[in-house]
Amino acid sequence: METLFDKILAGEIPATVVHQDDDVFAFKDINPQAPVHVLVIPKKRARGFESLKDATAADAGAFIAGVARVAEKLGLEENGYRVVFNIGKDGQQTVEYLHAHILGGRKLSWPPG
Ligand code: 5GP
Repeated sequence: METLFDKILAGEIPATVVHQDDDVFAFKDINPQAPVHVLVIPKKRARGFESLKDATAADAGAFIAGVARVAEKLGLEENGYRVVFNIGKDGQQTVEYLHAHILGGRKLSWPPG
């Protein structure tokens, strides 16, 4: 099933792209929850975090390394940041395309809601 993020990756829906390379594509969240709120998706489509169970170590690792590269590019390494995966109904996942939220630019509260 084609999702919103498939369309953003294909350029069919506009987004503010902050980074892309062979492995990942990163763009600003339309409804930011922090001064920096970026979504990172693998270029190779996966449905959600649970799909990583079946991914090769190379694909899973490339995605996670890509998330870290995006955070560095966003200038978040000095003060820190948070990476969030919303998974399924209780996790409030709304788009069925694997994505990491990178949140930063302020001190984030803990525990999350
Ligand atoms: P989820 O809730 O599935 O973890 O995250 C989906 C995210 O996509 C939400 O944070 C939401 O604000 C964001 N989002 C929804 N529609 C759009 C859109 O059209 N463009 C962008 N850039 N982000 C979107």
